[in-house]
Amino acid sequence: MAVGSVGTAKPGETFLVSECYPTIQGESSLVGTPTIFVRLYGCNLRCRWCDSMHAVEGGEFTERSVRDVTMEVVRLSQGEGPTRFRGIHHVCWTGGEPLLQGRSIARAIRELPPDFVHSIETDGEVDLGPFDADVGSARDEGRVRYVMDVKCPGSGMTPRRAFENLRLLRRTDEVKFVILDRGDYDFARRVLADHPVPAGTVLFSPAALAHHVAKGLDPAALASWILEDRLDVRLQPQLHKFLWPGRERGI
Ligand code: SF4
Repeated sequence: MAVGSVGTAKPGETFLVSECYPTIQGESSLVGTPTIFVRLYGCNLRCRWCDSMHAVEGGEFTERSVRDVTMEVVRLSQGEGPTRFRGIHHVCWTGGEPLLQGRSIARAIRELPPDFVHSIETDGEVDLGPFDADVGSARDEGRVRYVMDVKCPGSGMTPRRAFENLRLLRRTDEVKFVILDRGDYDFARRVLADHPVPAGTVLFSPAALAHHVAKGLDPAALASWILEDRLDVRLQPQLHKFLWPGRERGI
């Protein structure tokens, strides 16, 4: 169900920001890594199990210039002390659907220091092509990586663009299926069988209770299905749900 794009952000100039904060990455192969999250406001989808509805509806956002956001990312990333293991070097652009504001993200990536690695958490239903072209060499250098959803039936959404987007992925990218039940699991397995998936990592994430979902999927059930089928995918419960149970914001 597409509901249109965010109306008031100026492409390449401003962001509609829901939240910006340092946290521990709870998903993807970077799970556990300290990361600056930039959660952008507005989404083209309405997933039943969405756990970030405050960034989708309700009008709670601030319009901020690209410069203002990049300065905050740098400020939040800085660490102190003599060790070389200081500072945060990962940025996660999420939402909502961040690629609805892709031109502003591309500009921010150009303006931020070159030692940052950027993850783009996208719902799969926005064409990756224009953003790929916009970030150019940063993508070739592996500094821009997608974690792209393919929406399963349990989300209430129907994947369309995702199948074309799959072709644009590279080894450094990741594909994520949020799995609510056995039907979703079988759907994800079929997608992997029927489509080329050049991404290096495939994540199977059990849906947690949220929004319109009263009961999530038991991770142990998902684990047993994956093992029975000998699937070469990564089971991924969300770490932040264990670290900060019951919290929705700033995690
Ligand atoms: S795409 Fe993401 S942010 Fe948008 S409704 Fe679905 S889960 Fe929520």
